[in-house]
Amino acid sequence: MLTNDQLGKWDRESFFHPSTHLGQFARGEAPQRIVTGGEGVYITDRDGNRLLDGFAGLYCVNVGYGRQEIAEAIAAQARELSYYHAYAGHGSEASITLAKMVMDRAPDHMARVYFGLGGSDANETNIKLVWYYNNILGRPEKKKIISRWRGYHGSGLMTGSLTGLELFHKKFDLPLAQVIHTEAPYYFRRPDTAMTEADFTAHCVAELEALIESEGPETIAAFIGEPVLGTGGIVPPPEGYWPAIQAVLDKHDILLIADEVVTGFGRLGSMFGSDHYGIKPDLITSAKGLTSAYAPLSATIVGQRMWDVLMQGTDEYGVLGHGWTYSAHPIGAAAGIANLKLIDELGLVQNAADTGAYLAQTMRDALGAHANVGEVRGEGMLCAVELVADRDSRRFFDASEGKGAKVVAAMLERGVIARAMPQGDILGFAPPLCLTRAEADEIVSVTADAVEAVLG
Ligand code: PLP
Repeated sequence: MLTNDQLGKWDRESFFHPSTHLGQFARGEAPQRIVTGGEGVYITDRDGNRLLDGFAGLYCVNVGYGRQEIAEAIAAQARELSYYHAYAGHGSEASITLAKMVMDRAPDHMARVYFGLGGSDANETNIKLVWYYNNILGRPEKKKIISRWRGYHGSGLMTGSLTGLELFHKKFDLPLAQVIHTEAPYYFRRPDTAMTEADFTAHCVAELEALIESEGPETIAAFIGEPVLGTGGIVPPPEGYWPAIQAVLDKHDILLIADEVVTGFGRLGSMFGSDHYGIKPDLITSAKGLTSAYAPLSATIVGQRMWDVLMQGTDEYGVLGHGWTYSAHPIGAAAGIANLKLIDELGLVQNAADTGAYLAQTMRDALGAHANVGEVRGEGMLCAVELVADRDSRRFFDASEGKGAKVVAAMLERGVIARAMPQGDILGFAPPLCLTRAEADEIVSVTADAVEAVLG
C-alpha cells in the first residue's frame, strides 16, 4: 500500500479536484482527506479517523456505506455484461428492469425514463427536451427557462446557468442568456419580517408573474425547481408555495421540471418530493438516491404530455439526436436495482420521515434558543442550522468571517461531517436514510458543542 506521504504528494501535484480552492490545495494550505472505507453512516480515512457522515457524501449515499448486496450486484453485472449501449433500441436486463422499477415508483402521469450519469447531464437532457418539445409544437420562440436564485441544478454550461448561486457563475460567463432567475422561496430571508408564510408565498408568486409578464409568456418554456432548495441552503418551501406556483405555470402553458436529484427516492420521507408537495411535473430529474452513489446514474422521468410530443417529433423528423455512450450503463442499472430493493426492504423512506423528524426536533431543542442560531429547519432527512450575528434583528455574519465553515471544521475535529452550505452561514445535514436515533443524537451533540466552541 502506498504511504500517505506519497499519495498526499501525488494528490497535490496531479489531481484537479472539483469545487476546490486550486491554489491553496496545490500549495498545501487547504486540507486533503484520503478516504479508505465506509460502513453504515461512518467513513474512515488514511489518518485513522472514523467520521459520522452527516451529509451522506454529497447527499447521495442514501442506503449508507458498505452495502454488500449492491457490491455483489455490481460485480455480478460486470462479470455477465459489463457494457452495452442503449442506442437504437438496445438494452440489458438490468436497464429494462430498473426502468420498470423507476416507473412503478414515479407519479402516475409519468410515461418513460431516460438514463444518464449524474444530475448535471440529466438537467442538460431536460432542457434539450423542453426546447425540442416547443419546436415540435411550432413555437420556436418559447425557449427561456426560469430558475430560482439559490437553486442548484448542476455545473455544466446550461445547468450552471440554471443554478442560482454566485460562485457557479462568477468568471464563467454564466448564466447563459436563455436562463432567467426569480425569487428564492426562502422564508427566513424574506424581504419583510412582518410577512406571514402565506404572505411570502404570495410575494414569490407575484414576482414570478411579473417576470413572466415582462419577458412575455410566449417566450418562457419551463420553470425548474427543487422541491426543497438544497445547496442554496436546505430550505423547505413556505406554506402553499408549490400549488400556487403550479397554477401560474399552468395558466401560461409553461412546463415544470422538478429537480429531485436530492429528494428523489426517499429523502423527504416520501418516494418523490413531487408526491410530498403535490407537484405535477412534466419532467423529474433524479440521480443521487437512484443508486445511492454506488455507481453513477441519473434518470430523467418524462411526463405523458411531453412524451406524446417527443414521439410526434421523431415521427416527423426521425431519430432523436440525443444520447450518451454510457446512457443506461448496465453496471449503474444493476446498482440501481439493488439499491431500490434495499430502500424498500429496510423501510428507509419511512425512516427518513421518522428519524429525520427526530433529528430536526433534537437539533431545535439543543440549538433553537442559541443567540447565534436564527433558524433550525428540516424536512425528512434534511436539516439545516442557520447562523446569525444577531437573532432579533436577523443580522447575518459578514461572509469573510466564515463562521459556518469554522463550525463545520470544529465538528470535524469532533468526528462528525456536516456541510458548510456555499451561500450564507448555514450548517447542512443530509445523513444516510438509515440513520438511527443514537446517531442523530451524536450529530446534534457534536453540532451544539462546535457551535459553543466557535460562537460561545
Ligand atoms: N440538481 C440538484 C438538485 C443537485 O443537488 C445536484 C448536485 O448536488 C445536481 C442537480 C447536479 O448533480 P451532479 O453533481 O450529479 O451533476
